[in-house]
Amino acid sequence: MARSIYFFGAGQADGDAQQKDLLGGKGAGLAEMTRLGIPVPPGFTVTTEVCNAYYAAGKVLPAGVEDEIEAAIGRLESLLDARFGSPEAPLLVSVRSGARASMPGMMDTLLNLGINDEIVAGLARRTGSERFALDAYRRFILTYSDIVLGVPRDRFEEALGRARRDAAARLGVDATRLNSAELERKVPDSLLDPESLAALIQRQKEIVVGATGNAFPDDPRAQLGGAIRAVFDSWNNHRAQVYRKMHDIPEAWGTACNVQAMVFGNLGDDSGTGVAFTRDPSTGERRFYGEWLPNAQGEDVVAGVRTPHPLSRSGPGGGAASDDADDASSLEARMPEAHAQLVAVQARLEQHFRDMQDLEFTIQRGELFLLQCRTGKRTGRAAVRIAVEMAREGLISQREAILRVDPGSIDQLLHPSIDEGAPKRLLARGLPASPGAATGQVVFSADEAERRAGQGKAVILVRSETSPEDIHGMKAARGVLTARGGMTSHAAVVARGMGKSCVAGCSAISVSQGQMAVTIYDDHGHATGSIKVKAGDLITLDGGTGRVYLGAVPTVPAALSGEFEELIGWADAVRRLRVRSNADTPHDARTARNFGAEGIGLCRTEHMFFDEERIDAMREMILADGEAGRRRALAKLLPFQRGDFLGVFREMAGLPVTIRLLDPPLHEFLPQDEAQLEQLSKAMGISAKELRRKSQELAEYNPMLGHRGCRLAITSPEIYEMQARAILEAACEVAAAGIEVEPEIMIPLSMTRRELAITRALVEGVAEQVFAEKGRRVDVRFGTMIELPRAAIMAGELAEEAEFFSFGTNDLTQTTLGISRDDAGRFLGAYVEAGIFAKDPFQSLDVPGVGALVELARDRGRAARPGLKLGVCGEHGGDPSSIAFFERAGLDYVSCSPFRVPVARLAAAQAALTAESARGPRATD
Ligand code: PEP
Ligand code: MG
Repeated sequence: MARSIYFFGAGQADGDAQQKDLLGGKGAGLAEMTRLGIPVPPGFTVTTEVCNAYYAAGKVLPAGVEDEIEAAIGRLESLLDARFGSPEAPLLVSVRSGARASMPGMMDTLLNLGINDEIVAGLARRTGSERFALDAYRRFILTYSDIVLGVPRDRFEEALGRARRDAAARLGVDATRLNSAELERKVPDSLLDPESLAALIQRQKEIVVGATGNAFPDDPRAQLGGAIRAVFDSWNNHRAQVYRKMHDIPEAWGTACNVQAMVFGNLGDDSGTGVAFTRDPSTGERRFYGEWLPNAQGEDVVAGVRTPHPLSRSGPGGGAASDDADDASSLEARMPEAHAQLVAVQARLEQHFRDMQDLEFTIQRGELFLLQCRTGKRTGRAAVRIAVEMAREGLISQREAILRVDPGSIDQLLHPSIDEGAPKRLLARGLPASPGAATGQVVFSADEAERRAGQGKAVILVRSETSPEDIHGMKAARGVLTARGGMTSHAAVVARGMGKSCVAGCSAISVSQGQMAVTIYDDHGHATGSIKVKAGDLITLDGGTGRVYLGAVPTVPAALSGEFEELIGWADAVRRLRVRSNADTPHDARTARNFGAEGIGLCRTEHMFFDEERIDAMREMILADGEAGRRRALAKLLPFQRGDFLGVFREMAGLPVTIRLLDPPLHEFLPQDEAQLEQLSKAMGISAKELRRKSQELAEYNPMLGHRGCRLAITSPEIYEMQARAILEAACEVAAAGIEVEPEIMIPLSMTRRELAITRALVEGVAEQVFAEKGRRVDVRFGTMIELPRAAIMAGELAEEAEFFSFGTNDLTQTTLGISRDDAGRFLGAYVEAGIFAKDPFQSLDVPGVGALVELARDRGRAARPGLKLGVCGEHGGDPSSIAFFERAGLDYVSCSPFRVPVARLAAAQAALTAESARGPRATD
């Protein structure tokens, strides 16, 4: 292994921003900021390679690393004129995790390390504040015990409560009738006096001895070794694992560990700490945006225990502040010089990195230090706005703008919002932490959220504040509501990343013992009463405005922003793949067209038969004895089908519409229970017994592999005849009205040339009849789905009959893997967990397996019929990573559900740009 440690300090750094893989995002950012001459406390990064070696050796640090750490500590000491472990000139450090991709709050961080009873006294002398030194020490014991020694935080709660009561008594506050939340509000950490803190420290140490049998470690070097190991261990804690899985972060990356000289934001009213974004992470608006707390340490802001203040004053160019009180508490008002310096630094960093940055800073006695700088997480809406505006500003190119937006994240833009006109009962207001409307039953714990969501219930997770332990519950919930914390609290940051609705810092609610009490305020802010909301009650969140409503409030569909239209316009100009939609009704067709679909790639006709007025005729057809009976029933269905196709053709005027003839096995249409059977027996005048016998006859052991698809037409051609007639009559009618129509008739589940020859002759026969009757012809294409391995293998022969192929990758995955689509859910999760598949192959194409069949069919099909049109209409047509493969494979189009059309348009553009850069630069670039 090369060097293990990368040092940064005094304007020089061993690493730089390019070395994220080795130094993690935080380490690379600290190195780069140091190089830029931005004030950063010096420190060093232990690399991700060391983390990986640590795990490879069974959790042992590789030889030599400890010596390198010792040398780096020596460099820190001489830079700062302080000594690690010395009471005279104490050097305290922070120890923080930092992986290649940011994983907010998932791994561990320790502050104030390098302290003990003697050093705390020295620190008190150096800083002139005994209270501060003791506070730093008691915080360190708490986090170190929790993270390194395995003594959970809540074991210390009571001791902290006692310290607060002691302090309250000294302050003359009557604490006897206050609950712990009220007590904390009356006696915040900043009011704990030296006597209470000293007693608290002793109690904390006793708790550690009681829990571990050992004294709390006093030796700073032992503390440091333990902390570095704990940071590496936290790479594999439960919440980090869950987060990695959700964000496709490989375990093999490992985390780096940053050891950095402490600066203190809690040295009094001329100190503070905060977080900032160079643009608004929620909306993308170009304004410096963030929050700070005076006299506090970094964890206070992120933990959301105290609700922070805005950085800037409201008004033109100002920040989040909305009233005079906020203005007065803003950093701009309280420390104008540090604020001005911060504004300059953030502008410089954004220009340098050419992207929105997320910053952490501390002000120590008026002096500003940057502690972190990384690409900021943002909502889908913000991602689009920032990319487009940065391209307009000339900071990035349009191509970079296209590549900057994660197609998955724009799903959020398509989320519904609250119907403003609907009646609703406002419960409370909090911060608009992550947009989107969400309705669900209230749950008060992450486990409960997961349990109820597993039963198919929509839930809203309500917490005082969330912590990283709640990640699984946040994932399971539709939305998150917290009583405390700001826009950068854990709940807000994580919910935004997940694209989940979140209202944070809703101070009107208080959560305890399985219920939530909501104080109701009048328009003047006076409390007028309160309401109790229990687990299971329905509430609705509006994450875009911060409003919380009682009950379910109706929502309205999303409207796309101007920036989005602009970005997608740029994307359309560079993409090669066409994007169509799977749509079965005129309504879906319209939605799809509004989202930019360039045709319909799959109209599943079976869905049209389930309407109340049609299902009886369908059942009659299925249960009829002989062809004549079937034809009678089909004649009843014909006008309905024709009407459906008319509507779809009109909506898609001028664009191709691929209609698939009937696919599912017929038993799917039969009555499912006795009551329905009795009803049908009356309607059809056939005995229930007879009906039962017939439906048993139609039952199949494995309906996915039985009498379905074009096999239905081989035994009962009149079904496809009726459908072909309905399609062609509708097409002629639409054409007669002067509307351009491009029907494509598609045969499902074929695997032989002969199946296609038979069904093609059938379709062509009907077409000639209809054209003769209508006195006009329309162009109609005939094609097939490729859903079976044999179809892919025999694609050369199939292409002699078919003018187009559409890969039905749902069935092709099922039949290639031999895994039933309907049963896969029970065990595929375990396959993904065990690393057998990187992702669920029904969501993201199995490129080496199913993808190879797609390429084989492409080659054989196009060899037989040059120019053969190729598309995909399985679920994979809307999945960005599968789309990248379809681009490489040279398909003509993808087809996906209407709401995924914008996602697919963007993903197709990214795939084209990526494929292009893999081929090398263009001459015109
Ligand atoms: C497919 O199999 O991929 C397909 C689109 O058809 P269905 O999902 O209707 O079986
Ligand atoms: Mg299929």
